[in-house]
Amino acid sequence: MRTVYVNGDYLPETEARVSIFDRGFLMADGVYEVTSVLGGKLIDFDGHAARLDRSLRELDMQAPLGRDALLDIHRELVRINGIDEGMVYLQITRGSDGDRDFVFPDPETTPPTVVLFTQAKPGLADNPAAREGIKVVGIDDLRWARRDIKTVQLLYPSMGKMMARKAGADDAWMVEDGFVTEGTSNNAYIVKGGRIVTRELSSDILHGITRAAVLRFAREAQMAVEERPFTLAEAQAADEAFVTSASTFVTPVIEIDGVPLGDGTPGPVATRLREIYLDESLKTAI
Ligand code: PMP
Repeated sequence: MRTVYVNGDYLPETEARVSIFDRGFLMADGVYEVTSVLGGKLIDFDGHAARLDRSLRELDMQAPLGRDALLDIHRELVRINGIDEGMVYLQITRGSDGDRDFVFPDPETTPPTVVLFTQAKPGLADNPAAREGIKVVGIDDLRWARRDIKTVQLLYPSMGKMMARKAGADDAWMVEDGFVTEGTSNNAYIVKGGRIVTRELSSDILHGITRAAVLRFAREAQMAVEERPFTLAEAQAADEAFVTSASTFVTPVIEIDGVPLGDGTPGPVATRLREIYLDESLKTAI
């Protein structure tokens, strides 16, 4: 049985409790982070800690724990649960003042709820989806307009994944005003003539921690990067495509709305970026 963390305590998962009045539960009033674990070490922990702080700030929530305390909890959970490859999920909500009200509770008297748990994922780095690539379909982006805040409002992305499944694909790319924003749980990229194209940062997309690292590694490797929006049609005509996220690293996309990209197998840029990302991230894992 897993040991999880709730508000200062390490508990068996079946004994962990959160109030039914918690605003995370009633209003999706909370933020989260997912940090990968490879070889028992955390990948890009500082990136996730920094984005967590930003998400909290944007929602006028106080950070209940500093970077070092959070790191200790992450490491302790990895240790107790014997995680070699997997993830640590962290969620902070605005807590519960014992009733339901649209008005935020007073942070002086209502502390946030802090929950962390691990997910063991043997084979995370050497994953069939990375070797074979994934198929995506385009869907409308019907999310709220502050996608730069990593909130727990994941109903639409979850519906998007189901729409993809129903269409015989693995994931969906969301489209707004004719341009791809991002995947349901990843950032989206195309490659044409050796140039990597991905949407620029704004409140339209999540500022992926993996995105930042991958673009840095790509530029260091002298690859050309263009940060601008692209359409599904441009993506279908690209040489290759891929997605990035903390839990899937770099994953090639081989088909978009039924149209195979290139020869329909993972492309060389995505494959190389995945290798570079894994090698470099392991060097700085803590
Ligand atoms: N966009 C969305 C909508 C996501 O949910 C995620 C994964 N949390 C990402 C992008 C990728 O972000 P990261 O690389 O930080 O995991």
